[in-house]
Amino acid sequence: MKKIRVFITCVLAIPILFSCISNQEKMEKRLSTFISGMEAKVIPMYRKSAIASWNANILGTDSAWSISEKASFDYAKIFTSKTEFSELKDIKDSGEVKDSLLSRQLDILYNAYLGGQVDTSLLAQQIRMETEINKKFTNYRASVNGKELTDNQVEEILRNSTKSSELQSAWEAHKLIGPVVAKDIIELVKHRNKIAKMIGFNNYHEMSLKLSGQDPNEVTRIFDELDSLTRDNFKELKNEIDIYLAKRDKISVSDLQPWHYQNRYFQEAPKIYKVDFDKYYKNYDPVKLASTFYNGIGLNVDPILAKSDLYEKPGKNQHAFSTDIDRSGDVRTLDNILPDSYWMNTILHELGHGAYSYYNDMSLPFTLRDAAHTFTTEAVAVMFGNLATDPKWMLQMNIIDKNESEKISDESSKALRLEMLVFSRWAQVMYRFEKSMYENPDQDLNSLWWNIVEKYQMIRKPEGRDMPDWATKIHIALYPCYYHNYLLGYLLSSQLYNYITTKVTDNPAFTNDKAVGEYLKSKVFRPGARYYWNDMIERATGEKLTAKYYAKQFIK
Ligand SMILES: [Zn+2]
Repeated sequence: MKKIRVFITCVLAIPILFSCISNQEKMEKRLSTFISGMEAKVIPMYRKSAIASWNANILGTDSAWSISEKASFDYAKIFTSKTEFSELKDIKDSGEVKDSLLSRQLDILYNAYLGGQVDTSLLAQQIRMETEINKKFTNYRASVNGKELTDNQVEEILRNSTKSSELQSAWEAHKLIGPVVAKDIIELVKHRNKIAKMIGFNNYHEMSLKLSGQDPNEVTRIFDELDSLTRDNFKELKNEIDIYLAKRDKISVSDLQPWHYQNRYFQEAPKIYKVDFDKYYKNYDPVKLASTFYNGIGLNVDPILAKSDLYEKPGKNQHAFSTDIDRSGDVRTLDNILPDSYWMNTILHELGHGAYSYYNDMSLPFTLRDAAHTFTTEAVAVMFGNLATDPKWMLQMNIIDKNESEKISDESSKALRLEMLVFSRWAQVMYRFEKSMYENPDQDLNSLWWNIVEKYQMIRKPEGRDMPDWATKIHIALYPCYYHNYLLGYLLSSQLYNYITTKVTDNPAFTNDKAVGEYLKSKVFRPGARYYWNDMIERATGEKLTAKYYAKQFIK
């Protein structure tokens, strides 16, 4: 009798139980199954592609590069599957995935597959258009008085010459690449917009940001905040720059033109302060200094250094990067280290990226074992890189003595402030121009460019000029809609620096304070991509991303 009753209760209970958990559980189970299948393909391909790219960058041979190209193509191909995308779309549209780790993976995977749904023939056409433009940039040489100049030679003249006529010819000659590529770029922009519209976006700019997990309105709001916090201070500094440059080039301030600002776009600060940091590093090994420093703050980076390729070699990539080979602890940096301040900054920078990857939480699912966003890892890298020219850090690392540290303290903080502010105004130009260009590629882009340059960089357009100067910046054509991330990285770097130096340590140079490493590990590195980037920032610093601390750090 008893047995029967139990049996009956179960029979009755089962359907009730099913109906109240079924939808959520069913969808979460479907997603888990999807993820297992996806990981089985993605994890080995991710590693294969990362290793192939690493080898190609070290060896530089054609065969290594073609292996790498094939591997990254095969990796990208995974996300083009129509059936897998429609499975994900079903799951997402149901709105039933509530578990926080699963729903975060769903968001990231959905964007990855959505980006992969672009019509392959349109994509191939886009790559062809980009290649053609790239060739034109690569083959272009500015011609001055019958002499052909590389971009580096143009930069050298702009940096060193004090003769207005020479500066003007170099600047104008370089700008003649504009008419060569402008029409192609407008076509490419329209083509990219066509692709974006086909997968449901208003334009390519919006698509790029949204697929990377950024809301264009949120980014614009942060850029507006930064603009209003820095405008007056930049204006003052810009006056200082103008007075310095006019004196240097023996002209009046009112005669200053875009070619007087020491580089093609006024994207870097003119050298108006004179601290030679290189001389301090002549007798030091930046790798040893970096290892000692990171160990001191509780972030042992020796396993990363052991796998890294640190010094120059024939055929090797001449720049620097950090790469997470397998999201399971194989993290490497590529560098070309020399004993100078640039490479001191660079190795601290790359190891900042490296530590972010290395100290990730290995118990997280593969998709979430990544930075919250590319700019959040950039922020950590920049914060550490800046220490290379921080007199307090150099003193604590025994690179300079107390006298020297005090002697250069004022000039070096002014130089950093100038560098940051000049870059921030330039990044405003890039972000706002690209956004507006993709919203309406048929508008007068020549005027749009100069209106924005005049507003944010406060440089006047040469009288009567109507040239596609916007088209001369290669990033517009070939590295689209990414520039703003550098600036967001700087803002977060300041926000983290402020939090650490007010809440975590009393030491503004961090050295030998393990609390700094502990904080970063627990609040930034280990959370990986488990939270939306702005939620991670709020959990780590108590506030969403704001320009306040950038202004606090660099505006006096
Ligand atoms: Zn970086």
